[in-house]
Amino acid sequence: MIPVRGFEGQTLAVLGLGRSGLTTARSLEAGGATPVCWDDNADARDKAQAEGFEIRDLTRAGAFDDIASLIVSPGIPHLYPAPNRVIRAAMQAGVPVDNDIGLFFRSLALEEWSDFDTAPRVIAVTGSNGKSTTSALIHHILEHVDREAQLAGNIGRGVLDIDPPGDGGVVVLELSSYQTDLARALTPDVAVFTNLSPDHLDRHGGMGGYFAAKRRLFAEGGPDRAVIGVDEDEGLYLANQMAEGRSDDRVIRISVAQKLTGPGWHVFARKGFLAEWRKGKQVTAIDLRPMTGLPGSHNHQNACAAYAACRTLGLAPRVIEAALASYPGLPHRSQTIAEAGGVRYVNDSKATNVDSAAKALAAFDKVRWICGGLEKEGGLDGLRASLGSVVKAYVIGREAAGFALQLPEVEAEVCTTMEVAVARAMAEAEAGDVVLLAPAAASFDQYDNFEQRGEDFAAQVMAGLKG
Ligand code: ADP
Repeated sequence: MIPVRGFEGQTLAVLGLGRSGLTTARSLEAGGATPVCWDDNADARDKAQAEGFEIRDLTRAGAFDDIASLIVSPGIPHLYPAPNRVIRAAMQAGVPVDNDIGLFFRSLALEEWSDFDTAPRVIAVTGSNGKSTTSALIHHILEHVDREAQLAGNIGRGVLDIDPPGDGGVVVLELSSYQTDLARALTPDVAVFTNLSPDHLDRHGGMGGYFAAKRRLFAEGGPDRAVIGVDEDEGLYLANQMAEGRSDDRVIRISVAQKLTGPGWHVFARKGFLAEWRKGKQVTAIDLRPMTGLPGSHNHQNACAAYAACRTLGLAPRVIEAALASYPGLPHRSQTIAEAGGVRYVNDSKATNVDSAAKALAAFDKVRWICGGLEKEGGLDGLRASLGSVVKAYVIGREAAGFALQLPEVEAEVCTTMEVAVARAMAEAEAGDVVLLAPAAASFDQYDNFEQRGEDFAAQVMAGLKG
C-alpha cells in the first residue's frame, strides 16, 4: 500500500466506495488522515462501515465544513453531463476535488529513494483504445527481463494498493480520461498516448473536452519522455507541442499509418514489421507477424508504444522482441478462444466503441461478426470502411433490429441473444472464417460488463462445439 502523505491530521471525504474508494480510505488512514466516506448505494456504505470507516452523508448541508479535500471514484461524473451533487457541493464549498491518481503521485516519492542506484519510474498510458493491452505489454516485457514491475490503475491493482517500488522498480499505470481529467498531480516519468477516437463524449462535453482530459497527462509537470501515436490530428498536435524541434528525442512518435524517418525518435509498424528510427537512421526491424498475442495493425500500434516505452528505460531491441513474441494477450481483446473445423473463434468483447470494433474487423479476412448492444453516441459510420471483411453480421442486444438497420451494406440477421447469434454463426461458418465478437457497443443492456458478455460468448461457443 502507498500511504497518502501531506494530509496528516486532516479529514478527507471519499465519494464512491467501490474497489478504488475503499483502497483510498485505507491509504488515507495509513498516512495519518481521517477519511469520511459516502456512496449512494447502501450496500457499499455498509461494507465501508464494517471495515471501521466513518460514514458521513455528504449530501447534507455543512458536510464539507471540516474537509480538506474530496476524493472521487472514476465512475462518478464530475462535470458533464452534470456534476454529481456531492461534487457540486464540494466545489461550492471551495473544497479541492481530487482522485486516487492525484494522491498517488503526491505520495509516491520517498526520501529513501536517494539511496537507490536507480530511482523508481512511473510509466502512464492513456488513449482511447489499446491502453490495457499496451500497459500489460510493457509490464510483460519488464517481467521478461526480471525488472521489478507493478501494473495498476484501470488494470491490475488500484494505484494506492501497490507496494512502494524498490530500487529500479517500475510502476505501469493505465489511466482513463476520467482519471487524468481530475487528478491534481500527474507526474509520470514516461507518458504514453496510444490514439484518439470518439468515446465517453457525454462525460467530457464533446471531443475537445475528451482530448483535453487525456492531454493533462502531458501538461502537468511534463514527463521526461512522451510516447505519442501521431495517426490522428490530436496526437500529431500533442507531439508537436511537446517537442522543442525536429530532433528533440524526448518525444517518440508512433505510427501504423506512415513511415517516420525524420531526425527525431520514431517507432512505426508497416506491413507487419516494427521499425525504430533515431536521428535519421534505422535502429531495428522486428517481424510482428508471427506474434500470435498481437494480431492486427491495432495491436502493432500497441507493440510500437510498448516497445518505445521500454526503450526509454534502456532495454535492448532484441530483448524486447523476445518478450513481444511470448505475450499471451489479454482476455476479451482479440482473444482466440477456440479453433475447430478451420473456423477460428475470437472474443473481442472489449470492442465497446466503433473504432476498436473497426480495428478488430480489419484484422481478419472473412468475418462472421457478432455485434450490437447499447449503442454509443456518434452512430456507426466509423465502421463503414472496415465492413469489407464481413461475410455476415449476427446482431445482439435489446435494440438489435435498430442496430442492424444502420448497416445496410452487410447481410445482417437479428439474433438478439448471444445464444442465438453464436448458434447461427456456427451453423453457417465455413473453413477459413473467423467468428468474431466485436460488438461496437456497450454491454449494459444485457450484461453487467463486457467481461460477462465475453464469457457468455465463450461459453456458447464451447457448448456449440461439444454439441
Ligand atoms: P483500453 O484499455 O484502452 O480500452 P484495450 O487494450 O483493453 O484498450 O482494448 C480495447 C479494445 O480496443 C479491444 O477491443 C481491442 O481489441 C481494441 N484495441 C486494442 N488496441 C487498439 C488500438 N491500438 N487501436 C484501436 N483499437 C484497439
